[in-house]
Amino acid sequence: MLILETRALTKYFGSFCAVGGVDLRVEEGTLHSVIGPNGAGKTTLFNLISGYLRPSDGAVIFEGKDITGTPLHKMAHLGIGRSFQITNVFPNLTVLENVRLAAQAKGADSLRFLADAGSIKKYIEQATHALELVGLTARMGWLAAALPHGDKRKLEIAINLVGDPRLLLLDEPAAGMATEQVPEFMNTISEIRKRAGKTILLVEHNMSVVMNYSDRITVMAGGKVLAEGAPAEIKSNEAVQNAYLGHR
Ligand code: ADP
Ligand code: MG
Repeated sequence: MLILETRALTKYFGSFCAVGGVDLRVEEGTLHSVIGPNGAGKTTLFNLISGYLRPSDGAVIFEGKDITGTPLHKMAHLGIGRSFQITNVFPNLTVLENVRLAAQAKGADSLRFLADAGSIKKYIEQATHALELVGLTARMGWLAAALPHGDKRKLEIAINLVGDPRLLLLDEPAAGMATEQVPEFMNTISEIRKRAGKTILLVEHNMSVVMNYSDRITVMAGGKVLAEGAPAEIKSNEAVQNAYLGHR
């Protein structure tokens, strides 16, 4: 079953076409990566899907419903979570408190100053579960500021997991991470898909980061889809290799 589909999705900035007629098809339960050289239009596509930008043309279909133009703040309620380059991580709160607050903000108590003890317990449970999924259980009591970079990215993902999104959108989650940390991090993401049954759409410019973990890969260049397929097909695709020449 398709969980997400874009139909001829298009975005102009003035007269410049950053995304031109993209048809993306994401199967439920897969880790689907969108790759391409810098400037290919990946982040713009991501922003169109997550409601941060309104498309100039085309449609976004989620679970069979047309959600085109739904604003960002309504996406969580639809079941779509997205990572931000700058997340609302409070550096002077613990890891657990950060995720618990996110759970509370997404829950029914967000408008109440004091949630009752029963619902606090529920939010702590949700937060603990999300932290377990990203492998941060041992660091729940740490101040967020004290986490190494890779663990901060995991914390951001845990914050996105509360509220139980069915689709998780991640834009270059491994950016800025030391190369030797990337496989373990990508493994964690892959585990989230398997254990929690999530669909993950991941944007990444570096092909080697996603090659071993993706079920499907869509390659973009110049705002258009250049190729789509299983990792092995993409690796051996000549047009893809050419697009990447000089862009590494
Ligand atoms: P990628 O994420 O693949 O590196 P982007 O989606 O960020 O690519 O950008 C695609 C193209 O659109 C680039 O040429 C970029 O300069 C341009 N672009 C992105 N955002 C804007 C904007 N807000 N206004 C004008 N041009 C933009
Ligand atoms: Mg980008």
